[in-house]
Amino acid sequence: MIENKNEEVTEKKSLNFIELAVENDIKEGKNGGRVQTRFPPEPNGYLHIGHAKAICMDFGMAERHNGICNLRFDDTNPVKEDTEYVDSIMEDIQWLGFQWKNVYYASDYFQYLWDFAVALIKEGKAYIDEQSAEEIAKQKGTPTEPGINSPYRDRPIDENLELFHKMNSGEIEEGAMVLRAKIDMTHSNMHFRDPIIYRVIKHPHHRTGDAWKAYPMYDFAHGQSDYVEGVTHSLCTLEFEVHRPLYDYFIDELIAVPELATEKNYRPRQMEFNRLNLTYTVMSKRKLLTLVKENLVNNWDDPRMPTICGFRRRGYSPEAIRKFIDMIGYTKYEALNDISLLEAAVREDLNKRATRVSAVLDPVKLIVTNYPEDMVEEMEAINNPEDETAGKHTIQFSRELWMERDDFMEDAPKKFFRMTPGQEVRLKNAYIVKCTGCKKNEAGEVVEVYCEYDPKTKSGMPDSGRKVKGTLHWLSAAHCLPAEVRLYDRLFKVENPGAEQNADFRDLLNPDSLKVITNCFVEKYTAQLPALSYLQFQRIGYFNIDRDSTPDKLIFNRTVGLKDTWSKISNTQK
Ligand code: ATP
Ligand code: MG
Repeated sequence: MIENKNEEVTEKKSLNFIELAVENDIKEGKNGGRVQTRFPPEPNGYLHIGHAKAICMDFGMAERHNGICNLRFDDTNPVKEDTEYVDSIMEDIQWLGFQWKNVYYASDYFQYLWDFAVALIKEGKAYIDEQSAEEIAKQKGTPTEPGINSPYRDRPIDENLELFHKMNSGEIEEGAMVLRAKIDMTHSNMHFRDPIIYRVIKHPHHRTGDAWKAYPMYDFAHGQSDYVEGVTHSLCTLEFEVHRPLYDYFIDELIAVPELATEKNYRPRQMEFNRLNLTYTVMSKRKLLTLVKENLVNNWDDPRMPTICGFRRRGYSPEAIRKFIDMIGYTKYEALNDISLLEAAVREDLNKRATRVSAVLDPVKLIVTNYPEDMVEEMEAINNPEDETAGKHTIQFSRELWMERDDFMEDAPKKFFRMTPGQEVRLKNAYIVKCTGCKKNEAGEVVEVYCEYDPKTKSGMPDSGRKVKGTLHWLSAAHCLPAEVRLYDRLFKVENPGAEQNADFRDLLNPDSLKVITNCFVEKYTAQLPALSYLQFQRIGYFNIDRDSTPDKLIFNRTVGLKDTWSKISNTQK
């Protein structure tokens, strides 16, 4: 099911189930009325818009209750992690408009977690298993069949301790043994069937180097990290719901170890909400990494990527992303969100934000034959009709202009209100002109369009009473600059690429997701604007200045069209 709740967001929204639960905890005086959350990314890739949903929840909740939200890197798997990702994650959170109180790392707790594991071993609640991962998996059973005890389950405590130390000293090879919690191989929750809590990884860690060879598993790190930091509400996505009893179990066990229990002894409460999934893209970091590594896109910030940095480069504002997250809300049910809804939020946001300029993407010359050859007039163009404070900028009008090729038709149908011989149109911010004809080359292509202007119809002059149906954009040929324009489309050609079990997701990529056009022209004014500036190319769409753009080589990205053309196209194709 695709959710497409396009209704206006009312000013006062009703609280979602997590907000209600948090408010209730505060009312009941739990945690001394404190709210503390965390955003816990694994630094193994760049953040995507799904993470933005979690970020808005974690930071937003803390903000609304004068609490704190910390950034915690869940860095328990050194093989995939890197400081490049740490840096990008910090940049993206701040760009979205949030600020953490402290930065923590799960690796800060490696000693603490080790001590806890040792305490469990000493109590006979954990053991070293020498079976292979396959054997362990085979013995797990199924939700309807109990598992089988490992032959190593009753290993003496001293031996477990000795082997655990060896796991960490480098004497044990990766995969040769693991530490498992000794809980219940017949438990109805599969996660309780003696979960693996430590494994050997010999890859250096991006922060702790070679200090550790034994690394805790996610389930043995997350809850304990929450607890030791004093997190009150541990908000995460629905796939962790089935882990919650184990999360609580380890915290109970941890609190029972006097040397490890914290003074305040807050018990974090885990609550889960649905993931953000978007049509025509994938949200898995593993798949996004594949796209980058195999050069199927141009890096993490490729404007086609659903990453925060990709959207930033494409010209989405942080406000638009947050508005979209707010629109879709938080529920207990997995859903697929329509990317058109995100684009609608972006369009609405850019309408208020973008500077209006002119650009001609498929140019043909327009000669105003009765305009003096050496004359140039300066005219004013309003930067944003939606925002008076945005001011104006100057444009030039002259005899030789550029116009859009498809704005001219020699033999036009009746309803063609653009340039065709004998018809009048207004040139935006300038004059009403009457088309007088065109010149073609040998191949029959139009190379020049001719018109005559009426000096009495200059924009801003008292109304001459003359009505024309079409208004066209244009550029003065001597006062514009060449530009490269990058047009983006859906990254994938199918609605839900993640759900196509039998296909390689690479084969589902849209081969036309990027079209580069190099013979465009834009107003000179744009060369003064900083990279990433939000623009509207009038009558064409919203664009921004690419970060690789220079005044000598201007590059623009199409952020989104003025209207949702895709849904029309896909409907007619069906
Ligand atoms: P992936 O599976 O793509 O690697 P992940 O969930 O492992 O993503 P983490 O870095 O562990 O990525 O995620 C950090 C936080 O962001 C977690 O709390 C996770 O629940 C949340 N998160 C990740 N993906 C989404 C999503 N699509 N929608 C909402 N929250 C998400
Ligand atoms: Mg994860």
